[in-house]
Amino acid sequence: MSKTKSTYKYDIEGHEPDPEQKRDADRLIRVCREHLDSLDEAMVRKAFTLCYLSHKGVKRASGEPYYYHPVAVAEIVASEITIDDVSVIASLLHDTVEDTKVTLDDIEVLFGEDVAHIIDGVTKISGVFKSRNTKQAETFMKLLLSMAEDIRVVLIKFADRLHNMRTIQHLPREKQLQIATETIELYAPLAHRFGLFNIKNELEDLCFKVIDPNSFKFISRKLREKKQDREAFIEEFMQPIRKELSDQGFEFEIKGRPKHIYSIFRKMQRQQKPFEEIYDLFAIRIILNDPHKKEDCWRVYSIITDWYTPIPKRFRDFISVPKANGYQSLHTTVITKQGRKVEVQIRTHKMDEIAEKGLAAHWKYKENKEGSETLDKFVTWVRDVLDNPRPDAATEFVKDFQLNLYQDEIYVFTPQGELRTLPQGATPIDFAFDIHSEIGERAIAAKVNGKMTPLREKLDIGDQVEIITGNKINLNPDWIDDVVTHKAKSRIRQFVKQKERQVADEGREIWEKKAKKNNIEISEQELTKVIQKLDYDSTKQLFYEIGKGSADVKELVRVVSEFKSKGRVEVDVPEETRPLTEKEIQETYINAARSISDDDALIINGELTNVKYSYANCCNPIPGDDVIGFISRIGDVKIHRSNCKNVRHLIQTDGERIVDVSWAKNIGSQFLGAVKVIGEDRVAMINDLTDVLSKSLKTNMKSINVNSDSGMFEGILTVFVDDIDHLDRIMEKLHKVEGVKSVFRYE
Ligand code: MN
Repeated sequence: MSKTKSTYKYDIEGHEPDPEQKRDADRLIRVCREHLDSLDEAMVRKAFTLCYLSHKGVKRASGEPYYYHPVAVAEIVASEITIDDVSVIASLLHDTVEDTKVTLDDIEVLFGEDVAHIIDGVTKISGVFKSRNTKQAETFMKLLLSMAEDIRVVLIKFADRLHNMRTIQHLPREKQLQIATETIELYAPLAHRFGLFNIKNELEDLCFKVIDPNSFKFISRKLREKKQDREAFIEEFMQPIRKELSDQGFEFEIKGRPKHIYSIFRKMQRQQKPFEEIYDLFAIRIILNDPHKKEDCWRVYSIITDWYTPIPKRFRDFISVPKANGYQSLHTTVITKQGRKVEVQIRTHKMDEIAEKGLAAHWKYKENKEGSETLDKFVTWVRDVLDNPRPDAATEFVKDFQLNLYQDEIYVFTPQGELRTLPQGATPIDFAFDIHSEIGERAIAAKVNGKMTPLREKLDIGDQVEIITGNKINLNPDWIDDVVTHKAKSRIRQFVKQKERQVADEGREIWEKKAKKNNIEISEQELTKVIQKLDYDSTKQLFYEIGKGSADVKELVRVVSEFKSKGRVEVDVPEETRPLTEKEIQETYINAARSISDDDALIINGELTNVKYSYANCCNPIPGDDVIGFISRIGDVKIHRSNCKNVRHLIQTDGERIVDVSWAKNIGSQFLGAVKVIGEDRVAMINDLTDVLSKSLKTNMKSINVNSDSGMFEGILTVFVDDIDHLDRIMEKLHKVEGVKSVFRYE
């Protein structure tokens, strides 16, 4: 980059600040002073001025001046991630190169190489986001790659995304869903891996609010209702501990915030329990101020367990063995005299900073050995996961990757006593691949704690594992279901692909011999045309089927001969399997927007339509549910609940087919809903439940499915309802039936 190419048109030095500009710049400087260790104030002001001038006159979707956004991102970077002033400067300018006349050369001349480098990285990533053809997975890989270059690029990208999510309500609904899905699938897991827990939690809650507004509102209301109870309980629980700690001269802080909404929701789903039965809605955190050291955490632990009985199984020592993202803390769950279980986390101030800001906090400590080692580990980790970046495997890659991100970790040992960290659920096969891919490929057996053990058996915390290898490759394709690490999965898949290629080559040979015998000459291109009619994706797939013996080569000869004589092939293709063309999708949109119709209608993109639609039976939406539409392959619209798992997938693969839909006022038909009832197993329980439905609510029931086990009753009632209110009323009444413990909507 040479200085002569500089083309910036803004009079930064000579510009007399506007009042609002001065006000906002002063506020940012205040935030920086409060949080950053060192600050080049003149440089930050200069960046602010260029940001202000270059975006002048442009507005955001909310109608606010555009420069509010980069300034907000800079504030997040300064106060919530807390990196350095270079990152604040880069944040202020992060959208300039892409959206304004400012060039990278300008930035380098004015702010130096570091800032230019970071902005280059941020711009490249967002370039990928804008090109519609690139799939998310590739974006994700780019993100990782840029991280390996300069971690600040990704941290700014997180701050950028966080501010965009905080202000997402100004965008149209389908855009909101698209962004929220991308954020929850890619950014949140990555933030988790970086240990940016605060940001990860907020991103998840903001996404959840978009994707499933009803559940979000429900849980936040419940949390508000319970707030006083919770605070009183924490006060009572801590009172003796607080006194004892003070008496012994500890300086500390106590935090008792509830878990974030999305994690509570996930817990309810996983455990199939209503809100009231999730006991660990919060953990009590005891944070020791400086200069307390890690030894003091153990002393605190001992004080707590003098007062309350610990549950040994729930004890975790992340201080001696930190998590891969650097997280350190002591966790224990204790029982109060009233029988209530409480999780207590004990850590030092520095550990807490790392727990909330993860990698960003390590950046701050990078001068220390510990900090720089953790940073190095991240870079190695990124290189490791990007070891095998085949673009066709990108989607699989992201899937495995996300799986690994959220999993709990276990640690195991090599025969030499070296510690290895693996995701929970890992088997000796994972362990073998983790050591070296060659060991994985040649593994024939394992010794766990000195005992011969099947390769597929799950490992436990603390196991010592030895892998016994053979001389040749022993890789078994079925292992794919027994491994959880990305490394093992990708190598096994690669192996399977190789095998498939061999079979396909054999199949091709069979076909070529047969073709020669029947005097058929056909070009690869023509053959491709023919087999598409036969519903094969590629000649490779066809040859593979022939090689395997599952496709009939004689049938192929017949079809090809027919094609050669008539010039076309007649095969019945069921309509569903034919994908819609781009044009047909467009037409569906246009028809949907044009037609106006009667009561029994759906509203697409704000207009009443009589386009053909149906309800997805994966999530069975009911009027009142938050819904979206998906234009199916045959051109009608499928209505899903917006929190449906399948929709997430569809947004990723076919985002352009999503349409915003809402319920018309008069639907006039009935819908199927299911509720789960849990309670005491007593005589006449079923009778009482069905009575409520038929007598007091005039509801028709489709089916009832009952399970009773050791005095507990569990029933799933499928009923016909008008709308969500109707279903809510049913649930309320069922709850009041004698002996019923909980009632919730069943998916
Ligand atoms: Mn931005």
